[in-house]
Amino acid sequence: MRLLNHPVQLAPLILVVFFGINACIACDGPASAAASNKARYDQFRIYRVFLETDEQVGIMQQLENRSDSYQFMGHARNPNQNLSIMVAPQKIAEITDLMDRFQIQGQVLLYNIQELIDAQELTVMPKGTAPEQFDWTHYFHLDTIHKWLDLQASKYPDLLTVIPLQASYERNLIKGVKLSAKPGNTAVFVECGIHAREWISPAVCTYILNQLLTSEAPEVHDLATNFDWFFFPVVNPDGYKYTFDADRFWRKNRRPYGLCRGVDLNRNFESNWNGIGASSDPCAYDFAGGSAASEPETQVIQNFVKQNAQSARIRTYFSMHSYSQLIMFPYGYTTDRVDNYADLVAIGERGSEAIRNTHGKQYLAGAMIETIYPSSGDSVDWAYAECGVPVAYTFELRGPPESTNMFILPAEEIAPTGEETLAAYVAMLGEARKLGYYDGVGQKGEL
Ligand SMILES: [Zn+2]
Repeated sequence: MRLLNHPVQLAPLILVVFFGINACIACDGPASAAASNKARYDQFRIYRVFLETDEQVGIMQQLENRSDSYQFMGHARNPNQNLSIMVAPQKIAEITDLMDRFQIQGQVLLYNIQELIDAQELTVMPKGTAPEQFDWTHYFHLDTIHKWLDLQASKYPDLLTVIPLQASYERNLIKGVKLSAKPGNTAVFVECGIHAREWISPAVCTYILNQLLTSEAPEVHDLATNFDWFFFPVVNPDGYKYTFDADRFWRKNRRPYGLCRGVDLNRNFESNWNGIGASSDPCAYDFAGGSAASEPETQVIQNFVKQNAQSARIRTYFSMHSYSQLIMFPYGYTTDRVDNYADLVAIGERGSEAIRNTHGKQYLAGAMIETIYPSSGDSVDWAYAECGVPVAYTFELRGPPESTNMFILPAEEIAPTGEETLAAYVAMLGEARKLGYYDGVGQKGEL
């Protein structure tokens, strides 16, 4: 009532209300959420189920084929299988009924995926962040990662060369660097971010590169000096951008195929292309593409590795993914064992031990088809079989298979994941060296 006696005091109040409402049409606050075109996952749940019988497997297969309201992390394949499924809120009653009717064991791991996404968003540095502000306690947009690579090349001109590969459907660069401290080394190729939503992969990639450039630890200095390194932090730049701008759970590239978009680039390589563990449906998350290496991103990586396998002596290939905590070697598509199976088991186990000894995390090592699920057309099988790279691994980084974070790993886990992965690299390259994989290659390469 006192305000009525002092009409002048009302003016600022009215202005605040007026501009408050107007401002929120453009702002990012809760009032604007309804107007945003970003995918949202409010009340989406993660279920973890255990399939015991063929009937239960069949039910889950039908469910995946018939409805896009269920996102399967892997496919239902056989009895005695665990499976994580993301379920849209309008299907919660249906999945509850199905689990009840077919006596499928399982539990809800998480009740609202959007909360995870919102929490992680607080740790994303804004677009346009200067590369000097780069760190491993935040996630970064593509432009800052690329500028950070340029900045390192300018800081270490004698060690680093930028490799700007020209090819993505949306004309983003696939930018990499080569680190070389001396001539005659064999090289390690590190491929990151082929699956867009696996943000920990590019983050660990830059973490390890930074350690190689700056660490004074003798075992890290040894790796930096006695190996050449190729790092490509974001092999799928269009998809990576899309996970920031539109849909946090996007996995594929962004090329249109009729109604749907995107090829799973890690099913598009020329190695048993479109075989087991890949889909010919453009709407599927593991769509293999129109033909082997149909995608520009696949083509430039294949060409680059092929051209450099001999001349740059690439003897090791690491493809970095998440999640499930695995260290896997070829093959993905057949249970036939590679010639150096025993060596690759031993090297993988050294990696797993090193990880356990760093922060206690359990990683399982083994052939891809034996440890995760069948897949065809993946880059590591291709590098091994088609380019003769004998030490070739796919890493699935944190978290564990029953993870509630899935691809939404908290930023505070970037540095520890980087530390344990670097320890794995040290142990694995050390074991492979002991087994003779890097002997005399220089001379052979020069013949
Ligand atoms: Zn992946």
